[in-house]
Amino acid sequence: MKPIAIMWSEGVAEEEAVQAVFTVHQIVGALFRVERRNQFSPLVPAVRPFGTWVIPSVPRGAAYWGTQWYVERSLDPELNRVRGPDFLRLVQLEPWQIHDPHFDLALLDYEIIADPDDAPEETTLGLTLPGVAAVISVAPLREIPDREDRLLALRRLVAHHLGHLVRVPRPGRTEHVDLSGPEPHCTAVCAMRHANDVYELLRYAREEREAGVTYCRACARDLKIQLASAQFSLN
Ligand SMILES: [Zn+2]
Ligand SMILES: [Zn+2]
Repeated sequence: MKPIAIMWSEGVAEEEAVQAVFTVHQIVGALFRVERRNQFSPLVPAVRPFGTWVIPSVPRGAAYWGTQWYVERSLDPELNRVRGPDFLRLVQLEPWQIHDPHFDLALLDYEIIADPDDAPEETTLGLTLPGVAAVISVAPLREIPDREDRLLALRRLVAHHLGHLVRVPRPGRTEHVDLSGPEPHCTAVCAMRHANDVYELLRYAREEREAGVTYCRACARDLKIQLASAQFSLN
């Protein structure tokens, strides 16, 4: 089963990183509750928080020396924002992705541009290369003044991009799916609903919390199937 690796850039606060890691742990734990009764079950995907890492044997500045290399390489110097597709491509081409296929989730303190060529002024909360990597930005969430709200919105954002990362809603699903955008979304009260901005994100997060829902039943089922079968896909 493919593990889920989590990294974050230098400017991400400890409580933001902790919230992201906790969210992924909690989601995986809830989905695989039965399998976890066997403590060392190979049927539960591993969650690996790498943080802001460096490889001591690789000289600083050389390719893949550490987390900040991905950030610096994909940073637009004029806008001081990360070019999302460039960042995802660097993750996709990681040398260790070949020997040890895994899902990558990255948190950045920089704003992210989704379409650097055609819409460099537009930022996005997150961007995903399904099956490989997702990158999300904590920068827009910092506009939310209340700490608890901010962490709730971050949890929602992590859950949303974890879903995109493993292709939830699953291709071919017809129930509660919105296929009008570039990525499939869910239409139920569910973390896979599309949020246009940080305030819509927070509004949905509150609504889902009140309903006691992270993912709707269909998306939770899809997520579990996608994670459980990920070992067989070569992307
Ligand atoms: Zn989305
Ligand atoms: Zn859903």
